Amino acid sequence: MATDFDAAIVGSGFGGAVAACRLAEAGYRVVMLERGRRWHRQDYPSISRKNWIWNELDPVRDHGWLDIRHFGTIATIAGAGVGGGSLHFANVVIDAQPDLFDEGWPSEITFAGLAPYYQKVSDVLEPRKIPSNQFSNRTKLLKEAATNAGFGAQYDEVELAVTFNDDYAYDASREPRAGDSIERPNADGVQQGFCVHLGQCDLGCPVDARNTVAVNYIPRAERHQADVRPLHVVRSVEGLGDGYRIHFDRIDNGGLRPGSLTARIVVAAAGSIGSTELLLRCRDQHRTLRHISSTLGTRWSSNGNYLSPAVHRGRKVYPGRGPTITAGIRFFGANTHNGQHVMIEDGGVPDLLDEYRDELSNPRGDANRFGGLLRALYRVLEREPVEELMPWFAQGRDIPSGTFRLQRRFLGLLGRDVLRLSWDPSNARQVLDAIHELHRTLAGTTGGRILLQPPDAPITPHPLGGCPMAESATDGVVDHRGEVFGHHNLYVADGSILPRPVGHNPSKTIAALSERIADIIVHEGK
Ligand SMILES: Cc1cc2nc3c(=O)[nH]c(=O)nc-3n(C[C@H](O)[C@H](O)[C@H](O)COP(=O)(O)OP(=O)(O)OC[C@H]3O[C@@H](n4cnc5c(N)ncnc54)[C@H](O)[C@@H]3O)c2cc1C
Repeated sequence: MATDFDAAIVGSGFGGAVAACRLAEAGYRVVMLERGRRWHRQDYPSISRKNWIWNELDPVRDHGWLDIRHFGTIATIAGAGVGGGSLHFANVVIDAQPDLFDEGWPSEITFAGLAPYYQKVSDVLEPRKIPSNQFSNRTKLLKEAATNAGFGAQYDEVELAVTFNDDYAYDASREPRAGDSIERPNADGVQQGFCVHLGQCDLGCPVDARNTVAVNYIPRAERHQADVRPLHVVRSVEGLGDGYRIHFDRIDNGGLRPGSLTARIVVAAAGSIGSTELLLRCRDQHRTLRHISSTLGTRWSSNGNYLSPAVHRGRKVYPGRGPTITAGIRFFGANTHNGQHVMIEDGGVPDLLDEYRDELSNPRGDANRFGGLLRALYRVLEREPVEELMPWFAQGRDIPSGTFRLQRRFLGLLGRDVLRLSWDPSNARQVLDAIHELHRTLAGTTGGRILLQPPDAPITPHPLGGCPMAESATDGVVDHRGEVFGHHNLYVADGSILPRPVGHNPSKTIAALSERIADIIVHEGK
């Protein structure tokens, strides 16, 4: 069958950008369909001060930066736009701990086997540690706390996908200035400045110092004729025998315009929530992909994310300056804490709270959808000096037992099918308790005081799982090659295929798995 494209990639984050780039480089005719817009520097929320929110229920009105969903017991944050989660991520690009692959994965997936793919990701994203002459006040605080608490050997600065300039004379006491950065074309011909510690990573760096996939993998794919289509919301995938038809809605001129195209190979890379929802709708609502495993939607985890704001009286922490995360203390291998696998990090906060001071009293504002956490933080911070605030951040390995399913909107009986998540907070209790205890110890040993109790319904920026990788369809949705059991040439390559949480920043593992999947597609000659 003649198809419009050899490969259609749905989504353009860490999984999708890698797959699109490698398949295009290998000569495949690639189309990449991305629901969000293509962001340019002047449109970033850090500069435009608007377009914060992607609203799944009304994407024509709100097709902004972040997709925040409330699933009852937990909320999730994901990105929307060409570049996916890399647009707003905090730049930490690190290999998984080797023991991650010891259980729960197909036997073909090992740390040693993934090593060359991690390297390929490093070759493109060029992660490196923050230069030692540019430690932010948060970096120094984390290091001091680790040493004081006896965890000095577990402390290190983390690798960041950020362009630094070793000669930049950083002065932590001075307000950072965008004008200090100098732009140069990167290896893919995209203009990037170097990091001058503006602290806006999550809202789009005003000098583009961040090595997001939008400035390397994606332009590289386009140089090899990949057709990147923003504002295309993929609704379903239909099997055609020897290929697939992809149905989408294009956001255009204040409306949704339906369309479709065909491809021999489909790579779903819409993220843990996006790919899982898409495949659930195809299997259960549209009935276009009927053979997908009954395990679809399962093994979802929050990756144990947790943030404890602490006030450090008399100490200028400046949470709004410097790269959002710079360093970590690892509790893995022989150093687990109370048997829990945990990574403690410093977490920066862009000056977002100031932006929302007025909006919080306006129920129609975007800010209202940021939910309780922001409001609680704001209430606390009103009484505390923001420059003395240390956001102690962490992730850990929770139990991957969340399950997505589709359900009728009203009472489960009426209305359209909506995505629901069953997630029992007790599955993360032990790891969150371990983190809370560590945060208290670390803050305490450096004169800090934790301000908030653990929230009842946490919020995770690292949704993982839903289309787990496994040995067979009895245990998962895709095989070790990323191919969906029962559907030839339909692949999933994103955070949804992780059968268990990484326990720290997952993007490099997602990208490395996608490198491996693309490599297999090319070498199998599909
Ligand atoms: C504030 C924040 C900071 C973070 N910091 C870090 C960090 O420092 N290090 C790290 O490793 N991780 C970090 N993460 C997590 C990281 O961003 C995600 O783990 C990662 O982006 C997931 O990659 P992915 O390819 O699975 O999906 P994504 O990167 O989310 O990409 C999926 C893409 O698919 C698109 N999409 C979804 N549905 C559809 C559809 N139906 N049709 C078309 N397109 C669709 C989305 O718009 C999106 O662009 C952070 C997350 C947040 C929220």
